[in-house]
Order: sequence, then C-alpha cells, then structure tokens
Amino acid sequence: MADCIFCKMVNKEVPAQAVYEDEEILAFKDINPVAPVHVIIIPKKHITDATQLKSEDAGLIGRIYLAAVQIAKELGLEENGFRLVNNCKVDGGQEVFHLHFHLLGGHKLGLFV
Ligand code: 5GP
Ligand code: ZN
Repeated sequence: MADCIFCKMVNKEVPAQAVYEDEEILAFKDINPVAPVHVIIIPKKHITDATQLKSEDAGLIGRIYLAAVQIAKELGLEENGFRLVNNCKVDGGQEVFHLHFHLLGGHKLGLFV
C-alpha cells in the first residue's frame, strides 16, 4: 500500500533494524521502545488491522506467533517471558494501520507496559 510506513519498510524504501525476516514476515526494532526489548512483527502483505483478517490468514497468524517466540528466545526472553500485543483500531490504540504485533520484554511489565 503506497502510503504505509510498514509497507515501505518491507519494500526497503525506509530502513528497518530487522531482527527476523522470511518470505511473509518481517520483524524490526520499534523506533520508540517502551521496554528493553520492543520488536514489531508484521506480515509483509498489507492487512490494515485485525478486523480485516480472513480465514485464509489463520496460518500466517500462527507463523507470526511462532516467529515471535523464536525472536523472544533469540533476544533472551525465554526464561522470564514476554508479552505479544496487537492494538486494533482507535480504541485499541493503533497508530500504524498495517497489522502488527508488539513483542515486549526485558523487564517486568505493568498492565499497559
Ligand atoms: P501501534 O500504536 O500502531 O500499535 O504501534 C505502532 C508502533 O510502530 C509504535 O510503537 C511506533 O513507535 C512504531 N513505529 C512507528 N513508525 C515507525 C518507524 O518508522 N520505524 C519503526 N521502527 N517503528 C515505528
Ligand atoms: Zn502496509
């Protein structure tokens, strides 16, 4: 999608500090981290938000979850754990309208962060 910052990162038009990439998933460090580990995990294809998911995306979402766990392990979060969050639309606090998951960890998180 033309005006989407995360699509631009997928297309390498905007630099990303990537921590994981495969054919359908990209993960990169958040530009404004709210925890010692704050990684954004996205499907490479543009999906605006969770309400736009279709049944055919079920496998993709499962693979994103597995990628998140792999990244968490690689970044040292296996022992103490982590949080995986999706903010959906305005009330969920979504600011970038390309489906993404926040992988947060590295210290004890409160209710919100
Ligand atoms: P949301 O509020 O939509 O769930 O989260 C969007 C996240 O994307 C925010 O944590 C924000 O810091 C991050 N973000 C926004 N623009 C950029 C960018 O250009 N590069 C990176 N690495 N992260 C970004
Ligand atoms: Zn996009």
